Amino acid sequence: MQQVLEDPIEFLKGVGPQRGELLRAELGLATFGDLLHHFPFRYIDRSRFHRIREITDDLQQVQLRGVLGPPRLVGEKQGRRMVATLTDATGSIEMVWFKGIRWLQGSLKPGSEYIVFGKPATFKGKPNLPHPELELAATWDQGIDAALQPVYNTTEKLSAKGLTSRAIWKLQKSLLPQVIGQLPETLGPDQVALLGGISREEAFRQVHAPQDPALLEIARRRLKFEELFFIQLGLLRQKQLAQRNVRGHVFDHVGDHLNTFYTKHLPFELTGAQKRVVKEIRKDMGSGHQMNRLLQGDVGSGKTLVGLLSMLIALDNGFQGALMAPTEILAQQHFATLTRMLEGMPVVVRLLTGSTKTAARKSLLAALRMGEVHIIVGTHALLEDRVVFQRLGLVVIDEQHRFGVAQRARLWAKSEVPPHVLVMTATPIPRTLAMTLYGDLDTSVIDELPPGRKPIRTVHRYDASRNAVFGFLEQEIALGRQIYVVYPLIEEMEKKDNSPRAMQDLKDLTDGFESMSRRFPLPKYAVGIVHGRMDQATKDYEMARFKRGETNILVATTVIEVGVDVPNASVMVIENAERFGLSQLHQLRGRVGRGADQSYCILMTGDMLGNDARTRISTMVATNDGFAIAETDLKLRGPGDLLGTQQSGLPQLRIADLIEDSALLQQARQVAMRVLDEDPDLSDARHAPLAATMRARKDQLAWGRIS
Ligand code: ADP
Ligand code: MG
Repeated sequence: MQQVLEDPIEFLKGVGPQRGELLRAELGLATFGDLLHHFPFRYIDRSRFHRIREITDDLQQVQLRGVLGPPRLVGEKQGRRMVATLTDATGSIEMVWFKGIRWLQGSLKPGSEYIVFGKPATFKGKPNLPHPELELAATWDQGIDAALQPVYNTTEKLSAKGLTSRAIWKLQKSLLPQVIGQLPETLGPDQVALLGGISREEAFRQVHAPQDPALLEIARRRLKFEELFFIQLGLLRQKQLAQRNVRGHVFDHVGDHLNTFYTKHLPFELTGAQKRVVKEIRKDMGSGHQMNRLLQGDVGSGKTLVGLLSMLIALDNGFQGALMAPTEILAQQHFATLTRMLEGMPVVVRLLTGSTKTAARKSLLAALRMGEVHIIVGTHALLEDRVVFQRLGLVVIDEQHRFGVAQRARLWAKSEVPPHVLVMTATPIPRTLAMTLYGDLDTSVIDELPPGRKPIRTVHRYDASRNAVFGFLEQEIALGRQIYVVYPLIEEMEKKDNSPRAMQDLKDLTDGFESMSRRFPLPKYAVGIVHGRMDQATKDYEMARFKRGETNILVATTVIEVGVDVPNASVMVIENAERFGLSQLHQLRGRVGRGADQSYCILMTGDMLGNDARTRISTMVATNDGFAIAETDLKLRGPGDLLGTQQSGLPQLRIADLIEDSALLQQARQVAMRVLDEDPDLSDARHAPLAATMRARKDQLAWGRIS
């Protein structure tokens, strides 16, 4: 039935083998169906023109109608370019080309009226138009068959072969009549009615060949909704199936471990948020279903403790617990924390990492298998097949997004009834993203910091004021505080990276260490250094010295990014802060402000900052709120980059946008919930299109995702 949609793109009139290959390579468009789903990202109202006098360089795109002046060649060599003036009743503007000059020279008709599109820029204080698109007004006027012109994504290579946005539009218009009648309805009558009654077929037609702005809006909304809705339906169905089919260990005891710890060992009161979350977790683990829960909480909100309490519940019910961390340093630290907190309790905690020696590992694994180890803390090493538990009841995963989905899946295989899973993330995930990524997980949020924390003061300083910064560090050290100085360096995973950039980074780091050591000399001061390329023993030694307060300043790379806990450290200096991403800056800043002292974060940058870097820095200075920062990060980078599209499991969206369409996403999720509530198996006739679509898309949706 959907045959036409599967047809190879080169068979479309106006494409052919060569362009077909390019469309495939450049945009991933291999079939008629792919092209149909290549949606415009914008529309131009062809009936409206800007006046040249009113052009400013903050306009995204201008459309002008004016008379072309004679083109002139100016400049030498690299700077060689062609300029031409366009004039309308209100003024004139220069257009400039650096490439394709010869071809243009031959084809332009000075003295004629042209329609010009482009993104304005500024040159010597005046607006100009680099590389605009031109079309003779005469042909343009003939070509008008709709006021709204879709704008399609294309690439330089495609444009060079004539596949400009307008050419793609033409392809769409020749495609539409061929596929009409082949686009079955995917939504049920209720949903269609909810979305303004527009059919799927009509929606595609309107989106590619719009007739009217209001109708276009309805069409776009319907297609966006549909895209988001089926993702949500898939995730929620997944969750429903897991609850129905996957049995979980029932933790219904509250026993000695938890009670003793809570009353005798816990050195402080839990925050309200911690209490609420522990309650949620306990309820989940007692339900008879497997828990799959995402715990979000800002840096320093006390997630580790929640993880520990949850593991004690497992112990009270006769099960073992595992705590998995993304790095060796962090695993060691968790191990130390747990050991310290559980001191005097009959709980055996052990550490397993890649560097655990063979003999020790053998006896550890044996003890684990016999159930003599109650809690095991470790890195990826926990995932190896030889790690066998007697009765694994709960896995707590810290700082989730460094663990691939596949790695997490391996944990399931470790026992017949899968363990409960608690994923803790320190980088808050914006709501919309969480809903799309973890829509099948239950979510808990710790939205409160332990009492007595003073908000960290964050400032931005240019390299030029380094002396003043050093003076400040001196004062802080005099008060008995400690300081981190962090440099960007391609880290750990890429130890073998010997690119010039990596080598330069390493040099900057060691230079930084040396100049710090000169400015803060022995014996009065001690400066340490730690980075991913050092061997483990040296790293541990340096970290331990800093922890014990034997070094005043620790010069480091992002190895300290996650989880390191030194409450006496009160200043975080971040060098080349413009090179760090927002979430990384926030993580790093979270390393201070853990004690009762006023803490500071100093973002050092050079003078030249790009727009995005400026936004990142000013966001950091303006707020300590991890969720606000995550939202800004999402806007700056887009969802794919934020999580790393490859491992993120984030579905590819063709028309909807997680940032702009968050309200629609919310609605799609609610509608999906209602549908599944009423008709869990989609067996009702009203839902037949939904069921058919789900079956057809099974492989495209992230069905198998687990956490
Ligand atoms: P994160 O959520 O970043 O993993 P941690 O679990 O490392 O945070 O906790 C940060 C610090 O706060 C630790 O030193 C921890 O002991 C402390 N902490 C946790 N919960 C509380 C609480 N309820 N009251 C006081 N301090 C707490
Ligand atoms: Mg932590």
